[in-house]
Amino acid sequence: MRRGVPWGSAACLLVAISAVSPARPETALPSLDLPDGIIRIAILQEGSYAALSAMGTYRAVDLKTGETRILSERHVYQVAPNLMGGIRLGPWNFHSPVRLMPQQPEHHLRIDGRSYRDSVLVRLDPPKKMTLINELGMESYLYGVLPHELSSSWPLEALKAQAVVSRTFAYRNLGKYWQQGFDLSADTFSQMYLGKNSEDPLTNRAVDETQGEVLLYRRELLNALFHACCGGRTRAAATAWGEGGTVSGPLSGVRDPYCRTSPHYTWSLFLTLSEIRDGLRRAGYPTEGFYALRLGDRGPSGYLLHVRALGKSFGESIPAHRFRNLFGENRVRSVFITRIYREGEGYRLIGRGWGHGVGMCQWGARAQAEQGRGYREILKFYYPGTILKSL
Ligand SMILES: [Zn+2]
Repeated sequence: MRRGVPWGSAACLLVAISAVSPARPETALPSLDLPDGIIRIAILQEGSYAALSAMGTYRAVDLKTGETRILSERHVYQVAPNLMGGIRLGPWNFHSPVRLMPQQPEHHLRIDGRSYRDSVLVRLDPPKKMTLINELGMESYLYGVLPHELSSSWPLEALKAQAVVSRTFAYRNLGKYWQQGFDLSADTFSQMYLGKNSEDPLTNRAVDETQGEVLLYRRELLNALFHACCGGRTRAAATAWGEGGTVSGPLSGVRDPYCRTSPHYTWSLFLTLSEIRDGLRRAGYPTEGFYALRLGDRGPSGYLLHVRALGKSFGESIPAHRFRNLFGENRVRSVFITRIYREGEGYRLIGRGWGHGVGMCQWGARAQAEQGRGYREILKFYYPGTILKSL
């Protein structure tokens, strides 16, 4: 099936990247016949209803029969699974899936109050749920990702570094959810993506000025992890989630003197004794006679590997990332915990940074950009040994 939409340069990107990307399985939705270079993002999962309207001319195509209907502009259509095992769209009944396709690239679709570029596929997920999948070019997708990663008020070179990182992440993860019929989700399990409404001219510019650029390491797409603030030192990926392993390569951690001015450089949290006991109990640790919380051992980057919980008849080493989960990742902002001490009826934790600490430190990138460093230098600093390649 031919698409009515010009897909720009994105179509040739994937041809070029096929040598370096873990290929999207050939069996992924073969009947849907999408051109290469298109990324599929689930914008509604397990939905039972959506309201959509076309801003411009859109066609609804039944991919089983080829039956086509033209949507009236700005008319609100309700889309939902029907009783015959298909999809009801306004007055029409279709088989699953249905593709909604714009006549012109500037046309877009409003779905539940948000606007989306390019095509949207509606597919039924038995028994009576549906998934809506936005199918669009990689660069257009990044327009809708970048504003959720960094504020457009940040310096352009920091935005450009993030654009390369987000693009590398997206290419590396193409096909992650192919069994469910899409590449990535629109939430934090992949990258936040809220469509066209969230776009900003400055973040779009950062995408445009790095068009097609990705980070490679040993001829493969880098696992381009990043976080808000490292607190002075980024972390070796090999130890970040407790699995151990060799500390080498671009994710082995660097000293970062740049993020010192970040508001997240240090943090402090007070946990009451009852909060601590409740948390330990929830995770299945003993609490009987609990009397102290202590720092455990540290990994090569200085991040804590374990927190010690001591009781009259127990001494538990809790993996630090688990401890962080237990009390909330926005409260225990990192496992770069430097002090734990008793304070009144609880314990005070002092730590540095915000996030897992692996890869690029966004606040450090911002400070480097403010000091006049370009995005290439910033990326080289946080991911030493990598190559920036334009596809
Ligand atoms: Zn940093």
